[in-house]
Amino acid sequence: MTDKRTIRGIHHITAITSSASANVTFYENILGLRLVKQTVNFDDPFTYHLYYGDREGNPGTILTFFPWLGLPPGKSGAGMVTAIAFEIPTGSAGYWQERLHRHGIETNKTLRFGDEVISFADPHGLGLELIASGGPALERPGDTAELAYRIRGFHSATELTKSLQPTQELLVHLGMVLRDRDGSRFRFAMDNDEFRARWYDLVVDPEAEKGQQGSGTVHHIAFRTPTDEEQKQWQRSLGEIGYQVTPVRDRKYFKSIYFHEPGGVLFEIATDPPGFAVDEPLEDLGRSLQLPPQFESWRAKIEAELPPLRPPAFVHEFVGPRASGSGEMTLVALHGTGGDEQDLLPLAQVVASGAAIISPRGQVKENGMNRFFRRLAAGVFDEKDVVRRAHELADFLLITAAGHNRPLDKLVALGYSNGANIAAAVMFLRPEVFSEAILLRPMLPLSQPPAVDLSGKKVLILRGRMDKMIPAYSTDQLIKVLTDAGAQVEVRTIAAGHGPTSSDSEVASQWLADFHP
Ligand code: ZN
Repeated sequence: MTDKRTIRGIHHITAITSSASANVTFYENILGLRLVKQTVNFDDPFTYHLYYGDREGNPGTILTFFPWLGLPPGKSGAGMVTAIAFEIPTGSAGYWQERLHRHGIETNKTLRFGDEVISFADPHGLGLELIASGGPALERPGDTAELAYRIRGFHSATELTKSLQPTQELLVHLGMVLRDRDGSRFRFAMDNDEFRARWYDLVVDPEAEKGQQGSGTVHHIAFRTPTDEEQKQWQRSLGEIGYQVTPVRDRKYFKSIYFHEPGGVLFEIATDPPGFAVDEPLEDLGRSLQLPPQFESWRAKIEAELPPLRPPAFVHEFVGPRASGSGEMTLVALHGTGGDEQDLLPLAQVVASGAAIISPRGQVKENGMNRFFRRLAAGVFDEKDVVRRAHELADFLLITAAGHNRPLDKLVALGYSNGANIAAAVMFLRPEVFSEAILLRPMLPLSQPPAVDLSGKKVLILRGRMDKMIPAYSTDQLIKVLTDAGAQVEVRTIAAGHGPTSSDSEVASQWLADFHP
């Protein structure tokens, strides 16, 4: 290492997501990272800020998230970090591909500068890569493959930019060196004794569309500096070449300065000290909510507001597919208020004989009756709860379907009343979950659903002519919002009241047979 002041690698990368619980499930259970800090967004203390890393939470391993429940997806593009790459041991690419596939995650394998690269996306569409360049796995007796092949921290990050030169000049000012080139990809190296998190790739495409921030996109990238003193020197030297650098902000686990690089990405320079063990012992990192002193007096209110990171599993019934019939499809049966996981099984078996069925029980109790979300009064939904529960249900369905080896693009909702309303909420908030939906006696579950593209989705709405429970205008609103979002909606009115009848199952089964013969 030289004496010259130079950036020492990636410190952390921060991304935006929507569901905190889906985030924890994915990064802990599937990628095997450690949640090293549960805290709140210091600028928005009723939302989480979650940090993942290696066991000690070392700089160069830290991926952090702002989860804003219900935030619509963003679009990765120019002026953004479009891929976050982790380093895995050489020889472990096959293990990781197999592991990701087992969880229903599609991967793509390529070669980059001679290393195997596995590309995939997290549950909210964030672009991730695993790069097998970390040297052989450390073989210690008794280690499982899970331990031997674990992620070692970041390998690199890729920025998509419209023009090379201005960003290149900045990277050089920060002490990075252009090391390699492959077509439109330029690889810059940072000086780092640990050989970790030391690459920054620029992919240059003058025609690239500008990215839009939202769920599933990177918010900023932070680079390492060892001391407060050096951080101040960076602040001064960047100011001298025309960058608008923020004052030093105390982030409790490090100190930060921020500025925008010429391509549009928000850069941060963060100090290595003091690290994550500053407010809880190393062995307890991430176990409980840590608040900065200014929010400690609000703790009770903040804790009540934040959704649980590990919500309880849904009690549910799973019926395997029968050999003949609608073998690929999985019907998701969602009961009405006061029902349970058994209620809709007979109806589901008539609607799609032979299909697999997942039938969860709603987790909210209202006067002893099961529901899928809370309401404030009859017909008045607690919309915050609707959003939270819809995400929990979506996560549960994807994990359960993958666990039973069911194709994840053929989940069909069959919801009745309260179950139809949560199914509609899942369509607006997590459009990837259901390909089709059969909604018996539904209402609009959110007064202002997020703008979402539902083109290609098919929805059957079954109204009851004598239904006295459901206000007709609310069903009309739902039909309008679904149609405006591009869904193909068919509405049938059955000569029935609020309860489902054999006419409902006949109409539904004929409608479904058109798409799943
Ligand atoms: Zn940061």
